[in-house]
Amino acid sequence: MATEQVGVIGAGTMGAGIALVCTRNEYPVMLLDANQAVLDKARSYIEAALEKDVQKGKISEQQKEESYQRVRFVSDMQELASCTIVIEAVPERLELKKSIFSSLTEICASDALLLTNTSSISITEIAGGLLNPERILGFHFFNPAPVMPLIEVIHGKKSSQENVEKAYQFACDLGKIPVLVADTPGFIVNRIARPYYNEALRIMGDRVAQPEQIDEIMKRAGGFKMGPFELQDLIGIDINFATTESVYSNFFHEGRFKPSRIQQRMVQAGNLGRKTGEGFYDYNK
Ligand code: NAD
Repeated sequence: MATEQVGVIGAGTMGAGIALVCTRNEYPVMLLDANQAVLDKARSYIEAALEKDVQKGKISEQQKEESYQRVRFVSDMQELASCTIVIEAVPERLELKKSIFSSLTEICASDALLLTNTSSISITEIAGGLLNPERILGFHFFNPAPVMPLIEVIHGKKSSQENVEKAYQFACDLGKIPVLVADTPGFIVNRIARPYYNEALRIMGDRVAQPEQIDEIMKRAGGFKMGPFELQDLIGIDINFATTESVYSNFFHEGRFKPSRIQQRMVQAGNLGRKTGEGFYDYNK
């Protein structure tokens, strides 16, 4: 069993998957969410994933039980006081993330590694003005976290080299492929991905083709595993829109990153993709 105690804040699309990755790699993990229904859903998801591991012969029944027991589902941030590594995965809003990190710097030991799964927000800005900013870093998983191998490890202006190395090693210990990235809007992958989503939305808006057609073309002709609309539904349209807004704003409103009104309207209507049952596709059928 690993010596580190991991905490994951936010048990939604990313947090539940990250907790699963941690326990599969023998890290005890506390998974925290403000919403009990989300925690219950995360519990069922982790249980089902471990059960599948047994069915596939990857682990024994006993290992499944041990793995499941390593995860604690909590709702009070004070419980994370014993964590030596915390990964924050709450929605993509600067003020929310800052308030979480402000609490964590008070609750956790001064040398605990505090990581954010932000898709686009500046690590320097999240850490700005907080205690011991040298231990705050970006640690960006991709969706689905248990499947995608990449983690972008992002060093903010005040992150220490020692902690960058610690986070890099942690990513390796989770069986992932870390890449060190400078603290720039959208880092590498999400910066590349903005034009991919935006242009697909413009094509849809110009009525050149429907989402299903665009997805099909990108998969069949482009060799992509998922089309841009399927991907937005998987990611969450609110998260995708917030990421584009953040990248746009931090590039001082460069037109190439301008967010789409189609996405904005979908967020306003609560059509957020798979997590709400409806996005570009209808999942209730
Ligand atoms: P999500 O909306 O699915 O889940 C966020 C969770 O945070 C919710 O369950 C919510 O109840 C919880 N939460 C909100 N405020 C809280 C608080 N104060 N304390 C505890 N819990 C709180 O979001 P997500 O898609 O998992 O995204 C989380 C982060 O990961 C974002 O920063 C996002 O940019 C990043 N990210 C998302 C993806 C993706 O594909 N969805 C991929 C990589 C990174």
